[in-house]
Amino acid sequence: MTKSPMSLADAPKFYAHPFDDNKLKEECGIFGVTGVTDAANFVALGLHALQHRGQEAGGIVSHDPEDGFNSARRFGYVRDNFTKQSLMETLPGPLAIGHVRYSTAGSKGAAIRDVQPFFGEFSMGGAAVAHNGNITNAEALRRELTERGSIFSSSSDSECIIHLMARSLQRNIPERMEDALRRVEGAFSIVAMTRTKLIGVRDALGVRPLVLGKLGDGYALSSETCALDIIGAEYVREIEPGEMVVITGDEIESSYPFRKQSPRFCIFEHVYFSRPDSIIGGQSVYETRRQIGVELAREAPVDADLVCPVPDSGTPAAIGFSQESGIPYAMGIIRNQYMGRTFIEPTEQIRNMGVRLKLNVNRALIKGKRVILVDDSVVRGTTSRKIKEMILDAGAAEVHFRIASPPTAWPCFYGVDTPQREKLLAATMTEEEMREHLNVDSLKFISLDGLYRAVGEAKGRKASCPQYCDACFSGEYPVTPADMIEKGFVLKTAAE
Ligand code: SF4
Repeated sequence: MTKSPMSLADAPKFYAHPFDDNKLKEECGIFGVTGVTDAANFVALGLHALQHRGQEAGGIVSHDPEDGFNSARRFGYVRDNFTKQSLMETLPGPLAIGHVRYSTAGSKGAAIRDVQPFFGEFSMGGAAVAHNGNITNAEALRRELTERGSIFSSSSDSECIIHLMARSLQRNIPERMEDALRRVEGAFSIVAMTRTKLIGVRDALGVRPLVLGKLGDGYALSSETCALDIIGAEYVREIEPGEMVVITGDEIESSYPFRKQSPRFCIFEHVYFSRPDSIIGGQSVYETRRQIGVELAREAPVDADLVCPVPDSGTPAAIGFSQESGIPYAMGIIRNQYMGRTFIEPTEQIRNMGVRLKLNVNRALIKGKRVILVDDSVVRGTTSRKIKEMILDAGAAEVHFRIASPPTAWPCFYGVDTPQREKLLAATMTEEEMREHLNVDSLKFISLDGLYRAVGEAKGRKASCPQYCDACFSGEYPVTPADMIEKGFVLKTAAE
């Protein structure tokens, strides 16, 4: 007898989206190029390499001596928009900057008006600004600016920078930008441009990354080194915390316009946000993550048969865990790399089918085994629960979670999308309560000290690293989140 085709409703047990709904999300990548023909094409490639820092939308502004400034902003992936010749022909010139976005400030699911770079026409010429980070006093600034007559065209915190520049009395754009940024609190790495200059700036704490590359006779600025690699630019150095570089032709002027402070680079860039093929502070992100796995195996050993990464970001830590523990490494969960977001459509059934195509458990490998799953973080915990179910359904004898970051118990206000504090699993439960909630045989997070040791050892040093921002683990915020406190957010108390 011929079996009738199975309908979606009859399909076997599927799983809700196990990856993208439950991670902290870096909100932006920025990139700029000067001194090449068709700079916008280089920027498009750079943004493509930075797509992991924001998939919601992208934008490019270019300048050509004959055509002036031009811009394009689109929702969706860079590869779906900025590869079209008809679009790229509208962005001529030797100077361009770009931005990929996952919104943190401004409205979610935002309008095209929120897509950067932002552009302003000043009496001394136009300027475009692309911002990675988050302005923690943006609401107070916006109130003040609107009371004084500024008309905002977006809901983004970053637009404050353009309005503050417009109100500055300085004579040129770099000086106006300095003026503006002195009023801004929070985290910012910025790539900006005038008709002739490419500008890069980092806040005094250097929370978010920004690097300089050499490209032929020109230069490039990028959130990460992986985007320099894709355009064949040579890595020169990081823009220092508190530094502003102004690149005119092949000349670079460097200055430090902000009050000097000890750097507080985001330690989560090492754990999760940056691409593993990037270099941060002279050290390989991949190697740091591998070392975190080594440290985790030392801190939280467990008897098991296999170490499996939660792909893809758990992979280097799982390799390190396996190397240190001697327990074999195996790909217990396979992710389909060709599965695009757009495939996951609104209805539950279709979405579940999409997820099923996106990942699968390697049943033959898992059956009857005691499995250590290594993941980069636990945020709401929903992801971890689903992954555990998948592994148990595939016949695993035991499931042990090892997490390559300390418990995420506090939201980030410096340019990373985090749920409200009460939605963070670690904000409301102890480690044992989380283990019970996830219903796994064991659950261990790397300690904050262990994370610092790993970051330091990856660089060949035994001592602790210079201080990082670790507020999402420790609750100790290097910049007071003024807007959020006004909205009722309560800082850590002495008793916590
Ligand atoms: S709070 Fe966490 S994610 Fe945010 S900048 Fe600090 S370390 Fe990075």
